[in-house]
Amino acid sequence: MPDPFIYTASPGRVVFGPGTLARVGDEIASLGCRRALILSTAFQKPEAEGLAAQLGNLAAGTFTEAAMHTPVAVTEKAMKVYEAIGADCVVALGGGSTIGLGKAIAWRNDAPQVVVATTYAGSEVTDILGQTENGRKTTLRDPKIRPETVIYDPDLTLGLPVPMSVASGLNAMAHAVEGLYAPDANPVTSMISLEGLRALKSALPCIVANPSDPEARSEALYGSWLCGIVLGSVAMSLHHKLCHTIGGGFDMPHAETHAILLPHTAAYNETAAPQQLARAAELFGGDLGGGLYDFAKSIGAPLALSDLGLRQADLERAAEMAVQNPYKNPRDVTRDGILDLLTRAHAGQRPGAA
Ligand code: NAD
Repeated sequence: MPDPFIYTASPGRVVFGPGTLARVGDEIASLGCRRALILSTAFQKPEAEGLAAQLGNLAAGTFTEAAMHTPVAVTEKAMKVYEAIGADCVVALGGGSTIGLGKAIAWRNDAPQVVVATTYAGSEVTDILGQTENGRKTTLRDPKIRPETVIYDPDLTLGLPVPMSVASGLNAMAHAVEGLYAPDANPVTSMISLEGLRALKSALPCIVANPSDPEARSEALYGSWLCGIVLGSVAMSLHHKLCHTIGGGFDMPHAETHAILLPHTAAYNETAAPQQLARAAELFGGDLGGGLYDFAKSIGAPLALSDLGLRQADLERAAEMAVQNPYKNPRDVTRDGILDLLTRAHAGQRPGAA
């Protein structure tokens, strides 16, 4: 019998499947919109321009300067373009950086959003916006931030480079693992977490073997959607707070930081939340931290924070920063515990190994 729980379903429409990029125009129209501003990073500018050409009159213009961590200066520039061209909605084509820009615009002017998600980060189904100004990252939640429509077209992920696919996939899995022991976890989000973990565990090795395997790409994108739902539904704890603190504090790449820390944060909490994590541990051979580490290693994921440029000398400060703001976590978050966790992650050691 389940323990008592509260479950709040999030609104949002999802269109999933190969070739669904062709449906963007219909989705804009079904939101009652006629003039979309298409957003992307500079790297995905050709795809954004291709989409604008496909949309014809429904595309009012493109803005292709989306950047990691949603700098407010970029958002303000995009807002000016939005107003100047008389746009009435945004279409974000890309990963978390581009989606972040669309959310930042919507938070300011309530623009309806269509997202075409091309990584596994999961931002497209959350009401969370992280933005940076003067070197400081702040995070906020608001119903206006959650995109109205998400299109998942696995064809657009066939060219996602393998190292990014692996890191982004592990980033998604981290949402699911933390969702299992979240203080507000419920049977529905836990079921979604486990299916998300299963899908990504099955798909990522196939993508490493054959990056353009259409079935594996579909399964990974499906898994990333599920993990994103969990991120948007329940509270995150140690893993996400640690990634936020050291990612922001030491300017580390987002997905890779998640990928490296996941086995260590899972191991840290495993003894304090054995029941909540039991079925995930089963998926990874009985020992979640060690099993996740072996899995990450087998798919060529980065394993050591030192490889991302974090210095040994930074670890003490990172541990101190990590314990500054208390939050709910299955195991007490202590400076010594976090320093030990970070020391292992810095060296790329398997959790639990001497
Ligand atoms: P990203 O969006 O920064 O993408 C990295 C690079 O890969 C970019 O140049 C992008 O254009 C390119 N790219 C994306 N998809 C591609 C594809 N299919 N093929 C080839 N290249 C592709 O990376 P990300 O990891 O998706 O997003 C990271 C950002 O998202 C961070 O700022 C993070 O804080 C944010 N994020 C926010 C949430 C949330 O809920 N608010 C959740 C997850 C991540």
